[in-house]
Amino acid sequence: MRFRESIVMVVAWMCALFFALAAEAVPAHANVPALQVAALAPLKPAPSAEQVIHGGMDDRFKPSRTTHTPNAVETQRWYRLSIDRDWHETSSPVLNFTGATYIRITVYAPPDYRPHELWFAQTEEMARFSRHHLALELPHDLRAGQAIYVRIAADNFTRQIRADITDMATYQAQDLTHVRLTTLFSSVQFTMVLAALCLWLVLRDRVLLYFIGYTCCQLMNQLLTSGEMYELPGGALLVPLGTHAPWLFIALSAPLLLSFILEFCELREITPGPARVLGHMRWPYLVITTLLCFPFAERMHLLASAYNLWFIVTSLWALSAVILAASRHGRQARFFLVAWLPQVLLTLVRLSQILLALDLPRWLEYSLPFATAFCSVVVTIGLADISLRARRERDMAHHLADHDALTGLLNRGALVGRLHDAVAQARPQHQPLALIFLDMDHFKSVNDRFGHQSGDACLRAVAAAIADELRPSDSLGRYGGEEFVALLPATAHEQAMAVGERIRRRIEAMQVHARGHTFQTTISMGVASLMGVNDTADDLIARADAALYRAKTQGRNCVVAHTPLTAVAG
Ligand code: GH3
Ligand code: MG
Ligand code: MG
Repeated sequence: MRFRESIVMVVAWMCALFFALAAEAVPAHANVPALQVAALAPLKPAPSAEQVIHGGMDDRFKPSRTTHTPNAVETQRWYRLSIDRDWHETSSPVLNFTGATYIRITVYAPPDYRPHELWFAQTEEMARFSRHHLALELPHDLRAGQAIYVRIAADNFTRQIRADITDMATYQAQDLTHVRLTTLFSSVQFTMVLAALCLWLVLRDRVLLYFIGYTCCQLMNQLLTSGEMYELPGGALLVPLGTHAPWLFIALSAPLLLSFILEFCELREITPGPARVLGHMRWPYLVITTLLCFPFAERMHLLASAYNLWFIVTSLWALSAVILAASRHGRQARFFLVAWLPQVLLTLVRLSQILLALDLPRWLEYSLPFATAFCSVVVTIGLADISLRARRERDMAHHLADHDALTGLLNRGALVGRLHDAVAQARPQHQPLALIFLDMDHFKSVNDRFGHQSGDACLRAVAAAIADELRPSDSLGRYGGEEFVALLPATAHEQAMAVGERIRRRIEAMQVHARGHTFQTTISMGVASLMGVNDTADDLIARADAALYRAKTQGRNCVVAHTPLTAVAG
């Protein structure tokens, strides 16, 4: 299967998997009693919990049209929730709050109206639900109109928090699907980080470190915002940081991602201008990250908005630079564009949703981590592609170092090297070693009559024909312009003469087709064999050259031996 086809297969499989899981994640519609919400206007001084839960403020609660219960930056808010008919479902009601991450909610529910604090980052010994929503099981005999008081603490963000009531069986089924999806996406990210780490241990390429860095930060952010990080060993250490923790990782991931894009997409070489600007765009993130390390709780929303706006600007700039590089035939840029486009578009949608304080739709909640995991997979394939190309280039460089570019045969240096090795091996063991020096006849006239390119084609055809007549253990090299040397280990002199004759006949009979011309050519050969223990590689070449000279003077198209001094054919 070709490389592009395998990528299409991976993408298709991932999309199919995601849609299968997303389809499963669609909530089942249960016909449970509806939740009614009444809100208490902020009072100064704030009423005490005792006052509220004993019904002292009941006449001041105003019915609210939606089940959204915004918190406030400056003060806590009280809500009075109730259901519109008695609870008759088979499983207990579960009161759950969506969008309340890091905001503390205290629920005072019947029968005893004891406070139950719900908080995203709290660690529970016997957790019954994931941290997808803040959830609390209510008594099974909840009646219509029975008050449930909810206190939502002030926070440095004003958010829309939605209260819902679901039956336990449905809630747990949905919660399980959520856990499966988040685990799947996080595992994919984690696996890609491990794969990149293994690659880095071998290749030590900086681009892999950038990838590992930003993917880890994104993974940490994902685990923190889904709350699962707090369940992992060491996760409790991040609790005091509260909402600063995910922001810290988000802010760190952005400059690492930009560095990765610059390097991976080769933007500095392909689009130097936009790349320079993109390089400078990393600095404000470091300022934001540093500021996040200080407890500016009350300025947090300003920092978050500044980050979001800057992220939109830099993402659009980076996207334009990558598109420009892709249009200039940047292979890596094209790769990255396929991988990153869904993620960047969904991130922009998510940021707009946050900036406009809209509800988080379910498809957006899951498609963003999916797009992130997808990006990691495709980028990892891209990183593997880089190392594959690096390996090919290295192999090519090795090959070119000892091979002739025109004919693909050994070059003169490599051939002489092999000759020295063969002489050193054959001499002490008294083994025969033969050398054939080949020179094409009147080759200059081939060039003159048919052109230099036809001459090249002729050289290639002759080289291939000679190589075809030799054994795998023989070595053939291009010694000079139209001169070749064949080295035949463990070959007696008569056998070498026979090989030479076979080559001579083959070349003589060969039709060369080049650039519309068809012509024939011939070749002359001098054969020499290793003689005595003091014979050297240079002696062998010199004797074969001398024999070749005699072949030329004897009329060409013949094989001449240095000893015995005989011509075999002509
Ligand atoms: P002889 O039979 O005496 O060997 O005659 P010759 O023409 O083959 O010998 P000479 O040494 O006079 O010319 C060799 C020619 O080979 C000259 C050069 O143009 C040509 N030649 C050498 N290297 C290449 C090459 O890479 N490509 C092509 N097309 N021609 C080459
Ligand atoms: Mg020559
Ligand atoms: Mg020649």
